[in-house]
Amino acid sequence: PHVFSTIPEIPADALFALKGRYTADTRSQKVDLGIGAYRDANGKPWVLPSVREAEKLIHEDPEYNHEYLAISGFAPFIGASAKVILGDESKAIEEQRVVSLQTLSGTGALHIAARFIKKFYTQSQTVYLSQPTWGNHFQVFETVGLKTATYKYWDDATKSLDIKGYLQDIESAEPGSIFVLHSCAHNPTGLDPTREQWVQILEAIKRKGHLPLFDSAYQGFASGDLKNDAWAVQRGVELLNETPILICQSFAKNVGMYGERIGAFHLVLPSAENKKAITSQLQAFTRSEISNPPSYGAKIVTKVLTVPALRAQWEQDLVTMSQRIYKQRVALRDALVALKTPGNWDHIVQQQGMFSFTGLTKAQVQRLETEHAVYLASSGRASVAGLNDHNVSYVAKSIDEAVR
Ligand code: PLP
Repeated sequence: PHVFSTIPEIPADALFALKGRYTADTRSQKVDLGIGAYRDANGKPWVLPSVREAEKLIHEDPEYNHEYLAISGFAPFIGASAKVILGDESKAIEEQRVVSLQTLSGTGALHIAARFIKKFYTQSQTVYLSQPTWGNHFQVFETVGLKTATYKYWDDATKSLDIKGYLQDIESAEPGSIFVLHSCAHNPTGLDPTREQWVQILEAIKRKGHLPLFDSAYQGFASGDLKNDAWAVQRGVELLNETPILICQSFAKNVGMYGERIGAFHLVLPSAENKKAITSQLQAFTRSEISNPPSYGAKIVTKVLTVPALRAQWEQDLVTMSQRIYKQRVALRDALVALKTPGNWDHIVQQQGMFSFTGLTKAQVQRLETEHAVYLASSGRASVAGLNDHNVSYVAKSIDEAVR
């Protein structure tokens, strides 16, 4: 035996294990509704046209190189990314009270947020997550030693938002608790609060003096419109003007840069006071962990965000992706209705973003995988992006069989 021979094995990540089983499956009709990555009408990964153009520009640039970025990241990227989420007219940006840092995609931004809270937030060390939430949230916060708790969100009986339970949980949490809010296209349910509900949520958070953390992983995926999908964040920044607001931003999905790991952490402060010191502390996290963030993807995303023609193309790409997903929602719902599959399937159309929380049970999901080679998360979450005109009726028939 050696010094590591007693380390216990832990279960594989459920979603990546699902992907492994899908890849190993030799049945030709197999369908992947697992990991949240966009697929085109033929089920293939999609390099956005705006990204292809941006890559051309970068390669044509005689100054192109692979030098290290600064610790905070690529300055034009940081500025442009803040504007995407906070808005071109953001008062907070104008008043220079936003600290921004390039991160390893959304997960890296959450990790930096977690470390910052752990080290410097003295009011609370408990992070409230929606029930349910993206599974990795628990690990990201617990890994740095923070406690996690949940607030009510999804009402299984009505397949809608449990706004009453949500507001009660905000009320009963210790003042100053940390609340993680999915800014749009909630993962895994695809269910977002209405604007009226958002105002209720934000006002309750304000009343209790909680610390809000917006997780923005799908801006543009919910409605196809960047501004629309940033509404809750921007309303929050206006309304909660006496508390810092943490924003974790990913460009994995909306620019299709999944593997390039491009994201940002933004800390919106009530005033610019002590900004320099805060920046220095955040930079120290990055320096000790990754030294400095990746450059290639940041340069591409910057082109996409800031070159007017590419920006227009990107906004069109977002419409393309969100509309194709929406059409598949409708196609799946209609096919299930046509088959007279027991149950009501309207929630599939009402939900938005990448996912549908189908309401299928664990056993039904298992049956879909073993009998039909249709793969989705055991929670019943389906990545709607995996559907297309070639497989949607097959998936509907498979669900019909599994439900009966
Ligand atoms: N937050 C949520 C809610 C997510 O669904 C995801 C990805 O699935 C992320 C954050 C982070 O993703 P990434 O690190 O790939 O940007």
